Amino acid sequence: MEYVLKTNGLCKQYKNFKALNRLTMNVPKGSIYGFVGRNGAGKTTLIRLICGLQFATEGSFELYGANSTSGKINDSRRKVGAVVETPSIFPDMTAEDNLKHQFRIIGVPSFEKVKDLLELVGLADTGKKKAKDFSLGMRQRLGIAIALCGDPDFLILDEPINGLDPQGIIEVRELILKLNREKNITVLISSHILDELSKLATHYGFIDKGTIVKELSAEELNDACRKCVTLTVSDTQKAVNALEDSGIASKAEYKILDGNRIDVYAQPNITQLVHALDKQGCELVTVKEHDETLEGFFISLVGGDSHD
Ligand code: ATP
Repeated sequence: MEYVLKTNGLCKQYKNFKALNRLTMNVPKGSIYGFVGRNGAGKTTLIRLICGLQFATEGSFELYGANSTSGKINDSRRKVGAVVETPSIFPDMTAEDNLKHQFRIIGVPSFEKVKDLLELVGLADTGKKKAKDFSLGMRQRLGIAIALCGDPDFLILDEPINGLDPQGIIEVRELILKLNREKNITVLISSHILDELSKLATHYGFIDKGTIVKELSAEELNDACRKCVTLTVSDTQKAVNALEDSGIASKAEYKILDGNRIDVYAQPNITQLVHALDKQGCELVTVKEHDETLEGFFISLVGGDSHD
């Protein structure tokens, strides 16, 4: 797999506090990478290091193959667009003037892309309205348009849906999906709201106390969160025979937890299950249905409340 970003034991120390602690993460090319962690976990710190706004105390990262300690890193950074913390927009300017200003800053003399960019982010009809009179969602989309002025391959968005109303969230989400699918832009989105990220992320990195505690694909996350029933039985080996011989569950559809408990993901018919177990001489003691929610999975990884 090709990676846009690979970090290698990154550390960031603020006096006595380690904001990043040997952080290792890998962002695949073409992915929407959900960078999930509670407030204060270190998400913004990592993003600031990638963007060159701060420097690591230890460790390094590779951006498009260029090591952060080499001079080539600045060439790689030209392929990156970012909205870090709040979008850097001028409130007294219109959307169009904000984009023109950004093109001047990055040294692009022509404004021919301004109209297309405004269309792309859904701000083409804002006319003379100043950015200060925009909704939060419109401001966020203007911030993304500004980050797109340099035509990036990799877009980094720090908490892009924070504080948005439901409509604003949908608009930003659809824009991110469009950029990824139609423009092939790899996107890294930090958020503490896993439920929202799950509507668009293809890969996840879970950060807690400055360390990546789990990295996994959307399919792997779905598997981890799928519905299952936990059976307590007199003998798990007999239960396995019953599940397989009766065709209720294949090897991939159950997991033995210990000598008496087994998780079955295949949503078995309970009458059929009881017959199959009885045939093997296996007693069924309890059946407990549960599904691991995204929220539950998040809490199992990072502990505590994810919405604090
Ligand atoms: P949030 O969603 O709240 O922004 P985050 O995951 O982005 O959270 P960071 O902003 O990266 O977290 O902060 C990580 C930790 O580092 C926090 O505990 C924060 O207080 C601390 N921190 C950040 N910047 C500094 C600084 N300049 N000096 C000291 N500590 C800092």
